[in-house]
Amino acid sequence: MSTKTIRIMCPNLMCRRVLSVPGEARGRTVRCRGCGSSIRIPTIAKAGPAPKPTPQPPVSETDVDVETT
Ligand SMILES: [Zn+2]
Repeated sequence: MSTKTIRIMCPNLMCRRVLSVPGEARGRTVRCRGCGSSIRIPTIAKAGPAPKPTPQPPVSETDVDVETT
């Protein structure tokens, strides 16, 4: 779970204030502190690449040491 801060600019052209909202606010609506207009936080973050799972190197089955009795 990522709680990265999202930075979003107020769509109000008279305001254009950059707001920092917690990652938990995704998909929700926040209120601009500058002008009071409601801003919808997009679910998908446009900025920054998503962390990819590191590919695991292929494990050769012959190397697995299984103890059998
Ligand atoms: Zn605003």
